[in-house]
Order: sequence, then structure tokens, then C-alpha cells
Amino acid sequence: MTVFSAKEFDNHEDVLFFHDQKSGLKAIIAVHDTTLGPALGGTRMWDYKSEEEAIADVLRLSRGMTYKSSLAGVNLGGGKSVIIGNAHTDKTPELFEAFGRAVGQLGGTYIAAEDVGTTVPDLEIARRSTRHIAGITEGNSGDPSPATAWGVFHGLRAAVKLELNKSDLSGVKVAVQGLGNVGYGLCELLKEADAELIVTDLNKAAVEKAVQNLGATAVPLDAIYDQEVDVFAPCALGAILNDDTIRRLKARVIAGSANNQLAEDRHAKMLMENGILYAPDYAINAGGIIIISHEGPQFDREKAMQQVAGIYDTCLSIFERAKREKVTTAEIADKIALERLERVRNEKAELALAS
Ligand code: NAD
Repeated sequence: MTVFSAKEFDNHEDVLFFHDQKSGLKAIIAVHDTTLGPALGGTRMWDYKSEEEAIADVLRLSRGMTYKSSLAGVNLGGGKSVIIGNAHTDKTPELFEAFGRAVGQLGGTYIAAEDVGTTVPDLEIARRSTRHIAGITEGNSGDPSPATAWGVFHGLRAAVKLELNKSDLSGVKVAVQGLGNVGYGLCELLKEADAELIVTDLNKAAVEKAVQNLGATAVPLDAIYDQEVDVFAPCALGAILNDDTIRRLKARVIAGSANNQLAEDRHAKMLMENGILYAPDYAINAGGIIIISHEGPQFDREKAMQQVAGIYDTCLSIFERAKREKVTTAEIADKIALERLERVRNEKAELALAS
């Protein structure tokens, strides 16, 4: 088992392993970078096949959070935690209390939130042992999904403006994959903007609701890639942009909330070569982290949502720079995130020298 030589290791500041015999907790917390502020990232509970797989996941995800927060312009660092276990059968209050104690040991360097396999009620239990938990209802910003949908909506508008030269969405055809918390919210916003919706989901009730309430056209799961649409909005799974789907897509824009949309890095280039404008996932789905960054006694939802709407400008500047520099939008997003980190690192170093 390796950490320092794992390919996902990227000069992480801390990687901590926690075990609580009484509750059975086995958790890893990775703090990738705290240049911009305390490391914030969700807690994933997953039945990992091996400890190596759990380590790789926590390293990769925590690094991703550094980039996401940096690009979004929020003063948070990158971190993530994983609990090794089955989210359906292994959850107990004792487990999450023990997890809260583990988070508390970092004294605020790491702030946990919900993620795949954990829920707000789980994190509320963890909060009994530490105050370093964000994105839960009491005294906080609550479910981040509406903010995420709001950000995706604005990023999608920016892409339509640049690629289709249209300032509004009326008559724009959008294929939405996944009608969960974010996908359905996005559909409501698109409907309000007079876009045409083509939707799919494993959940038949969600599809029925979109057809009935939003006038959407339903298509079978796999057919979503073949639609004659302007925009493809993936809001369900990762790795859906791959050799097979990119060849099939007819959309000129990809703008959706799903994390890790590119199956491999090279698929960003394939999209560019196929004339498809890709809104990098972590740029367009940053609404959740932005609203969480506003948490505190002065929490002002309206102000937070205004900053989320700024995803329009963030995406537009990524698209324009990518066109200018003739590189992929994914490369530009990484560059901008690293540039901000480097700038703040240098400022901090200068301040330290001066003091
Ligand atoms: P969710 O679980 O509420 O919704 C996901 C939906 O996708 C479900 O309705 C599910 O039935 C559907 N789905 C699953 N497999 C599918 C398939 N093969 N084809 C079509 N539909 C399928 O999740 P969510 O909170 O709406 O998040 C959606 C995506 O956005 C995820 O990738 C998530 O990681 C990402 N994301 C969410 C947030 C947030 O604030 N919730 C923030 C950033 C990124």
C-alpha cells in the first residue's frame, strides 16, 4: 500500500487514517492544499474493494477540490474524506459520532460536508462531535443542489452565447441526463427560459414529472446521446464523455453538473476536435461550494446566489481563452486555478518575509 508514490499523490499536505474499534469506523481524511483557506470537501462512504482504492479516491478527490475552489474564487482549500463501508448496511450513529471526532482532531484544517453515500442527517450526527461540518441545515446554507443548478444554468447560458451566438435560451434544445436534485432543478430553470427539454433518468417517476410539469420529451436511457439537440447536459454519472458517446453526440455544447465527465483527459481534446464546446465540470458545477463558502452568522442567500451566477463570467473567460490559445477548455480551467494558487502562495510568502 503506497501513499507518497501513489500516482494520485500531488504533494498533499496531510493524509490521516482513523480507526475507531467500538464503532468500526475506518476513515481517511486527505488535505490537499490550504493555501486559500481551510480544506473543504465531502465525505464519501463507499464499499471500497481495497484500501488502495480508498486511498486513490481520497487523494484524487481532495486535489479536485483545491482546483474547484480556486477556480470558483472562494477562500477554501481542497480536502476530502472517505469512510470505508457499505452505505446501506454499515451506518450507525456511533460511526458518524466517531467520524466527527476524527474531523475535530484536525481543528478546522478540514471541514466535512455530504457526498456520495452520506446524507445531511449523517453529517448532523457527526456535528455532535465537531463544529467543522458544513452544508447541513441548522444555521447553515442547507442542500447545495439548487445553487449547483443555478450555476450550471448560467454556465450553460455562457456556452450558448459563445458557441451559438444566442443571448437567450428560447428554442434552444437541451438533452438532460439525470433528473435528480440538480438535473430537475436545471430543467425548471431551462423551462422558465423557454428552452426545449429532452430528458432521461433511471427513475421513471422523475421522468414522468418532467413530462407532465415541464413539457419535456422523454427518451430511453442510452438514446440521450443521439438526440438532435444544441446542448447536452449530463447531470447523473461520471465518465459519460468517452470514445463511444463523443462520436454519437450532435450537440455543440456540453454543460452539465456531473462530476468527472471526461472518461480520460484526452477526451477534452477529442471534443475540441469534434467542434463541441465543453464547459469543464468543476467550473460549471461550483455553485454548491460557492454557497457553502458563504456560511456563517452573516449568511445572505441572495448575495451567495449572485456570486454563483458569476459562473457565467468564469465559463465565458475559460471558453474565450481556450479559443485564443487553441487549447482545450479543461486545460484552461486547470491553468486559471493554478495561477490563482500560485499568486496567493507568492503573496503569502512575501508577507511572511516582510513580517
Ligand atoms: P442525484 O442522486 O439527486 O441525481 C442523480 C440522478 O441521476 C438520479 O435521479 C438517478 O436516477 C439518475 N441516474 C443515475 N444513473 C443514470 C443513468 N444511467 N441515466 C440517466 N439517469 C441516471 O444527484 P445530484 O445531486 O442531482 O447530482 C447530479 C450530479 O451532479 C452528480 O454527478 C453529482 O456528483 C454532481 N454534483 C452535484 C452537486 C450538488 O450540489 N448536488 C454539486 C456538484 C456536482
